[in-house]
Amino acid sequence: MSESLFSLVRVAVNRPLFQTFTYKVPHRDNDLLKGRRIKVNFAGSEQIGIILEDITDKCGSDEETLSKVKSGELLDNTPILDDDILKMVTFGSSYYHYPIGQCLWTALPKILRDGGVYAYEAIPGLELIADSDSSCAKLRSPEQREIIEVLKAGPVRRKILRERGFSSQSENALIKKGLVRKINLEQPQQHWQDNLAHLRNELPPDPNDEQQQAIDTIAAKKGFGVFLLNGITGSGKTEVYLRVIEQVLRGGKAVLVLVPEIALTPQTFSRFYRRFNVPVASVHSQLSDRERLDAYLDMAKGSAAILIGTRTALFTPIPNLGLIVLDEEHDSSFKQSDGFRYHARSLALIRAQQIGCPVILGSATPSLESIANVQKGNFIQLKLTLRAGGAKRPDFNIIDLRHEPVTDGLKAGISRTLEDKIGEETAKGNQVLLFLNRRGFSHHLLCHQCGHVFCCPNCDTVLTVHHADGRLHCHICENSFPIPGQCPVCKSGELDESGFGTEQVEQFLTRRYPDTGLERIDRDNVTNKVQLEKHLEKIRNGQSQILLGTQMIAKGHDFPNVTLVGILDVDSGLFSDDFRSLELTAQLLTQVAGRAGRALKNGTVYLQTHYPDNLLINQITDPACSYDDISTTLLESRRKLKLPPYYHQAFLLSNSTDRKKAHYLLTELLTAIRPLMREYPDVTATPVLSDKIEKRHSRYHFHVLLSSSSRQSLSSVLDGIILLLKNMSLKGDVRFAVEVDPLSSSPG
Ligand code: ADP
Ligand code: ZN
Ligand code: ZN
Repeated sequence: MSESLFSLVRVAVNRPLFQTFTYKVPHRDNDLLKGRRIKVNFAGSEQIGIILEDITDKCGSDEETLSKVKSGELLDNTPILDDDILKMVTFGSSYYHYPIGQCLWTALPKILRDGGVYAYEAIPGLELIADSDSSCAKLRSPEQREIIEVLKAGPVRRKILRERGFSSQSENALIKKGLVRKINLEQPQQHWQDNLAHLRNELPPDPNDEQQQAIDTIAAKKGFGVFLLNGITGSGKTEVYLRVIEQVLRGGKAVLVLVPEIALTPQTFSRFYRRFNVPVASVHSQLSDRERLDAYLDMAKGSAAILIGTRTALFTPIPNLGLIVLDEEHDSSFKQSDGFRYHARSLALIRAQQIGCPVILGSATPSLESIANVQKGNFIQLKLTLRAGGAKRPDFNIIDLRHEPVTDGLKAGISRTLEDKIGEETAKGNQVLLFLNRRGFSHHLLCHQCGHVFCCPNCDTVLTVHHADGRLHCHICENSFPIPGQCPVCKSGELDESGFGTEQVEQFLTRRYPDTGLERIDRDNVTNKVQLEKHLEKIRNGQSQILLGTQMIAKGHDFPNVTLVGILDVDSGLFSDDFRSLELTAQLLTQVAGRAGRALKNGTVYLQTHYPDNLLINQITDPACSYDDISTTLLESRRKLKLPPYYHQAFLLSNSTDRKKAHYLLTELLTAIRPLMREYPDVTATPVLSDKIEKRHSRYHFHVLLSSSSRQSLSSVLDGIILLLKNMSLKGDVRFAVEVDPLSSSPG
């Protein structure tokens, strides 16, 4: 250790720069500097940076060296990012070719990015007032009674009550009645590890043989290992997670559970709250900045034992991390689609490797990437083939739309056959789930006289007709326009609507079956969790018998009384030019079908199609053909066509309000990289191509697809491209980005 009063540190700042910068800070003995925030003067302005490394010993700290560096001011007394996260983010920066400072900024809660204090403030909670027993007994509202039951175990944060599905109105009513009071729950209670004797809140079911084998295999693995828990819907994957989590908690270690945003329902939370007597923290899109930082602190300081969250939760410091679970691992929401375009699954493996803990990837429909990793021996596959509780796989039936009469229903998306089945099933008191991944009333508006189609002025796409607000909507830029009375080209007033969306299906069915009750769930009428819960509750309590929705209903929810599932439009997924669309369609259909007959009742799935001979449709409906068989077929063709997961891909992306300039940047770049490409003959590049929808949000989008059998070569070429770009100035408002491991064959 030097005698100097200063330390030299390497700092990353939030700028689009790949290099790091050296500053000096007042020296404090042996305090760890790595992972703390530092306020520095950077290019004339004040910036917050993250210390990546203490380089005092490497560079020396003599007067001369020190006099050349600017000094910075430490913002934290302790690191706010742990070593494993710094290593994971540093890896991510080089793997995804995105500037390290900007990667770190993606990782941090907003309050910390903005220089806020790394500490709790008062956290609002509720506490039961003693001696209120007799008044509680008189409560008429079931929700208020339930809140009282929860509070009997001790004070609870209001955020947690909300996640469990309670409304703030009920809480406030209880405060008014003098039964509960607001308190500050800032101080974490005792260490959860001290209470392990009472870890279980409820007695779990006995695992079946398959589950037991999965649990034992995972438990036997000491250190890093990746397990693909491949189990059909309802086979008890979550139960396996809970069992393994229990063992990890008993060892005094904490657990990270990553789920898609859409799956973070009160049911998901309550499963964890109900099972374990430990504090659970959460990270998702509906938290305030303050709540997000509180969850971060809960984990970093070890006061919570389990973190459940969406992809950004991966960046939360967890000093004692013993297990990472990634549920619905095939879900595309684990990939960030702008800025730092990371995939949480890829980075989670890096983090687990750093600390030497197991990872469980769970899915009923694993990604082809993960299946290929099983084949390569990188992941261990554990299969669950039986439905817990004995429910059977649903029967599949194809409705050949070519032979259906053209009825009003058919025009609105419901064939006569399906219409009748819906009637029969609901008459028996059962429930029906209808899936259509298209919102709005009609797909587009067309002039009967001249064929003019109404398109978005900002995007290359048709406008969807919405009757609810009487407007035409762009589903890309979200702009909307009044429904016009006449054609702007030929002035004809004869405008026809064409194609159906959820709004139209709803209108048809509520007229056809006025007494069954219908809940429609799509982004137009469900914009938050409270609304979603309201609709789902009506299905759960049987008030409504028909559930109609987009992919918002495909996952995460259990509907035990659903005996009929209708897939209204499979065809749109079959003929896309994206090589991933068959995989996505197979996953989506399998997931939706998994909603049927989950309890004792058997389910039937009807698929409406004009292409009953299509291979994928036949595989999905064939009782002898499983998702695994379908994925084997798909993987075979990926290998032949030199596509992922056997080949590695990356996009070079450009966009601008000036079409020429956006195109020119990539043309120029392709010319500039010719010598580089000669060094790496195993990397191929396409010419400059328009994105599938070239104009979006009034900007023109182009891309080049790079592809290689060698990830190393591809990465080296991308490094070279980043270097070249440093010397090419971006003209006008041209933007450039690299996307590694893209999830579609054309961006946008
Ligand atoms: P998945 O996550 O695979 O969809 P879950 O873990 O949610 O499956 O299990 C489906 C249902 O079966 C749940 O209600 C769960 O409590 C129940 N269950 C799971 N495993 C068992 C078991 N071994 N015995 C009895 N019930 C079980
Ligand atoms: Zn016209
Ligand atoms: Zn638009």
